[in-house]
Amino acid sequence: MAERMLKFINLPQQTPKKRAAEDRRQDFNEIYDSFEPAAAADQASRCSQCGIPFCSVNCPLSNNIPDWLKLTAEGRLEEAYELSSATNTFPEICGRICPQDRLCEGNCVIEKGFESVTIGAVERYITDTAFANNWVKPVAPVSERSESVGIVGSGPAGLAAAERLRSLGYQVTVYDRHDRVGGLLIYGIPSFKLEKEIVLRRWKWLEEGGVKFVLKADIGGTVPFSELREMHDAVLIATGVYKAREIGGPGAGLPGIVKALDFLITSNRKSLGDAVPDYHSGLLNAAGKDVVVIGGGDTAMDCVRTAIRQDAKSVTCLYRRDRQNMPGSLREVKNAEEEGVNFAWLCAPESFLGDDTVTGVRAVRMHLGLPDASGRQSVEAIDGSAFTVKADLVIKALGYDPEELPTAFNEPELTLTGWGTLKVNPHSFETSLPGVFAAGDIVRGASLVVWAIRDGRDAAAAIHRQFQAARQAQAAE
Ligand code: FAD
Ligand code: SF4
Ligand code: SF4
Repeated sequence: MAERMLKFINLPQQTPKKRAAEDRRQDFNEIYDSFEPAAAADQASRCSQCGIPFCSVNCPLSNNIPDWLKLTAEGRLEEAYELSSATNTFPEICGRICPQDRLCEGNCVIEKGFESVTIGAVERYITDTAFANNWVKPVAPVSERSESVGIVGSGPAGLAAAERLRSLGYQVTVYDRHDRVGGLLIYGIPSFKLEKEIVLRRWKWLEEGGVKFVLKADIGGTVPFSELREMHDAVLIATGVYKAREIGGPGAGLPGIVKALDFLITSNRKSLGDAVPDYHSGLLNAAGKDVVVIGGGDTAMDCVRTAIRQDAKSVTCLYRRDRQNMPGSLREVKNAEEEGVNFAWLCAPESFLGDDTVTGVRAVRMHLGLPDASGRQSVEAIDGSAFTVKADLVIKALGYDPEELPTAFNEPELTLTGWGTLKVNPHSFETSLPGVFAAGDIVRGASLVVWAIRDGRDAAAAIHRQFQAARQAQAAE
């Protein structure tokens, strides 16, 4: 092992080539190239094969990182793919969009002074290579089982559960109100982070494995939830969280102030070639406008960078805390700054100016106070610090809350937590309704793709355990 690995001492960290900011402003293509084979092997060989790999400990999927790095360094890519896909349903997606600086790479022991192993880029490279070589085969259960599972929501949680359940032989149908599969992977996250083809090929792959999809099916709307409970032996709710947090203050209802997800869905649909009247009418189009985005999470970062690509005149991000205390990935802030976004840290909107449409945002400067009960520093407005930012498009990206599912699904017995998320038994993933399970953001609150995959996989395992127990009980009767 020694001569092939541990090369971090002499071999510097090298990330895949990133396109120049001026070039990437012109289109919605991904900004990072894939590794060349030699570079992937070299970079994987920087791993020191830790006895206790903190990278894996801090990966929500407990990926077997040192082992697949070693296999990559040795050029044994098919084996690396098998190992990597054993714990992660969508490694090429996580390799692209996980905030690695906070998870695996941020905890790599060689980070200090030598810079971490480029784990995400290698993970992406392994599975992209597997697809290119036709090593990725559709799910093929050893035998079929009669029980059927209905899954509401085709985001990463629903899809990861579908793959696991189908591989065990269950009859799986995924329902989604959208016309394409992928949830936020397809309609939330822009293609400069995750190209749409990557998501679409996983849809095809699941269909080839026997997962059925029923699209444009709004459960609780056009299709009653009770119908699903009658049709399936178990139902998994994986609907994500979509209720956008609102902003108050004078002028908050002016035309030209829009919701982040409306803006992003429109842009993603345009990238997919759909008709997008709200884009062409200018309602959800940043071209030629002074744009202000309010918020500091992933959604806000995606909005500012989308606006840049739509040829906005200027793009300003207002965030009430500072750079160190923002929830979004710092890597994405750096990318946004390179692309020309202005960040107004420690600034919050007070009111919105304009008569028929928004023309500006009146903002105040904030300072960070003492930590509150949650340990987070409070923010306080600085008297007399108000200033105006010109704006003819304001995008609200303040986060999401869950929809009120007991009402939406007409299931008053469905129990919620204090945050409005679905309450589940943490071991069985079952909700308060027998045979109804839940996973992903609708349980956890707005989180990450990698956590949704983890929850979907765990929920599938729990559903399988419950079916097995029922079968055993039946056999004992
Ligand atoms: P979702 O992906 O939200 O999928 C839920 C699905 O359920 C949707 O397809 C929806 O149409 C469907 N649905 C909802 N209600 C119904 C209904 N009643 N009937 C039928 N179908 C229904 N995470 C990262 O790790 N990295 C990132 O870079 C990143 N960027 C993000 C950018 C944006 C703009 C946003 C909003 C989120 C981002 N996230 C990111 C978070 C990540 O996308 C989510 O945590 C993850 O997608 C949650 O997965 P999920 O399967 O629980 O829900
Ligand atoms: Fe890192 Fe995410 Fe891959 Fe885990 S899944 S190894 S956190 S990139
Ligand atoms: Fe390799 Fe870093 Fe993980 Fe250690 S922490 S096993 S060096 S990737």
